[in-house]
Amino acid sequence: MTRAILHLDMDAFYASVEQCDHPAWRGRPVVVGADPAEGRGRGVVAACSYEARAFGVRSALPIGRAWRLCPQGVFVRPRMARYAEVSRSLFALLREYTDLVEPLSIDEAFLDVTGSRRLWGDAERIGREIKGRVQREWGLVASVGVAPNKFLAKVASDLEKPDGFVVVRLGEERSFLEPLPIGRLWGVGPKTEERLRRVGLRTIGDVARLRPEDLEPALGEHAGDLIALARGEDSRPVAPDAEPRSLGAETTFERDTDDLEAVRRTLLGLADRVGSRLRGEGLRTARVTLKHRDETFHTITRSQALSRPTDLTEDLYAAALVLLDRVPHRGRRVRLVGLTATHLGGTRAAGAAQLDLFAPPPRPDRLGEVSRVVDEIRRQFGPRAITRAALLPEGDGDPRPRQRKKRS
Ligand SMILES: [Mg+2]
Repeated sequence: MTRAILHLDMDAFYASVEQCDHPAWRGRPVVVGADPAEGRGRGVVAACSYEARAFGVRSALPIGRAWRLCPQGVFVRPRMARYAEVSRSLFALLREYTDLVEPLSIDEAFLDVTGSRRLWGDAERIGREIKGRVQREWGLVASVGVAPNKFLAKVASDLEKPDGFVVVRLGEERSFLEPLPIGRLWGVGPKTEERLRRVGLRTIGDVARLRPEDLEPALGEHAGDLIALARGEDSRPVAPDAEPRSLGAETTFERDTDDLEAVRRTLLGLADRVGSRLRGEGLRTARVTLKHRDETFHTITRSQALSRPTDLTEDLYAAALVLLDRVPHRGRRVRLVGLTATHLGGTRAAGAAQLDLFAPPPRPDRLGEVSRVVDEIRRQFGPRAITRAALLPEGDGDPRPRQRKKRS
């Protein structure tokens, strides 16, 4: 049976939520991110409104540069809890139309509405209705792609962003893709794109006309998959309840630091944030990655598989310390550290329970108990209600060595 897939992606999501909550900011350049401190700020832009993009501001731009590009902008700190709240209502709205909703991020999802058409009308109509309701209920703008599969729907939603609505009809798959640049193919990053350009390929149509054996010298075993994609063939199902692939947090130091104890203390804070989010989502991680950026912006990552899946701050912190030891010391100060948990699985899932079955006898779950109590207090009284003694700010906040206090 022909499938009907929607891809929905909110436009400038964080910045739009801010404009929605603060009517005075509508129509103005809004930059969500670190404190710009009049151009001397550290950290980066998390998101910005289309008005800010007109000044050249982009996500991931250093916040100081964003401020110099657009000093008249409204600069605000992210309110993740608020964005998550809007996201939850958004996903609840999407699930009114089908159970087959696959979240890709906080503001992006695939929907398989193949079975919903009898009740709601054809896929295009469902897409228009969702787009209209998002606009009416939150004043937010979504771009929507409608197509017979996931790849085409994603390309379609992106094509006329912002406020896009693009439909790819059955039989139009190849003519739709034909003129688009090869960079729009999934899995084609800058390196692959360069390799394909060197053999004279420019558009997706150029790739679609090849046979796998033509492309194998350049791409190896992925040649066949890429050609199928270029022909608009993609049979992957929409997978509802897909759990996030990773959860992470990072911190840019107020000033670059060579104080190892301050770096460790920051890692404990990050381990605490990631652990708290894992527990909140009912997930455990089997692999931890440390990101380390020095004052010259040289960035390296180090990863470690855990002996057993965990959601405990203490386990994450222990892994972070092992990884920190594996970062080569070049005598440069540290600008940023980050911690990411990957290989996530549900704590209630059969897989996780089975792992526990064959694991060595569990240690008394005192740490798990403490973590749950801390999470509960934070839920009731806010994220700052309770913190680890080692994380309490000290004096002017300047990183310096200190004793770690024992928790009671
Ligand atoms: Mg988006």
